[in-house]
Amino acid sequence: MSSISPNICVFCGSRPGIKPVYAVSAQQLGRGLAQNGFGLVYGAGDLGLMGETARAARQAGGRVTGFIPRHLFQREVGRHDIDALIVTETMHERKMLMFGNSDAVVALPGGPGTLDELIEVLTWHQLGLHERPVYLISPDGYWDPFVALIGHLVDHGFADRSFLDYFTLVDSADAAISALISELKPQA
Ligand code: AMP
Repeated sequence: MSSISPNICVFCGSRPGIKPVYAVSAQQLGRGLAQNGFGLVYGAGDLGLMGETARAARQAGGRVTGFIPRHLFQREVGRHDIDALIVTETMHERKMLMFGNSDAVVALPGGPGTLDELIEVLTWHQLGLHERPVYLISPDGYWDPFVALIGHLVDHGFADRSFLDYFTLVDSADAAISALISELKPQA
């Protein structure tokens, strides 16, 4: 997509998680993306951190694009009030379109779905299919066990050490926004 107004694919929980800092991070991210001229691409739901991110981006005047499979529209409370809502037939189609319409990926705290999306994007990098930046926002060290697990795979000979270079851990949404600005240089 255009580097003039980059789109950022955000993976995050459909639940709020147990710490208030998770929702705060999602709000900061949504707001920060909008205020710095980035479009938000996400899973189109209104639940948990997904809802928090999209609501904050909308309220700050940002452009929001959502992709959701038909069968999840009710369950994840698909949002109609976004700039573009694309209903897909499958989960795989959703994931490919979210990624394909983005210039970078940011993961907030999340659960199994977030993990699935994140690891697939990283393995696509490993296979040489892309080199897009991936940022993990890790409030209160949320993603530390994930990083440790990847280190474990590397230490036991099941992944190259370079796999650890496919993502950047940041401790706040503001740090992710700063990194995106220097990486992608959008026009605000
Ligand atoms: P979660 O992190 O489990 O709350 O899920 C966050 C988002 O990931 C939701 O919109 C899920 O629909 C989506 N998701 C993507 N892939 C999967 C998968 N393989 N299993 C479950 N959820 C998934």
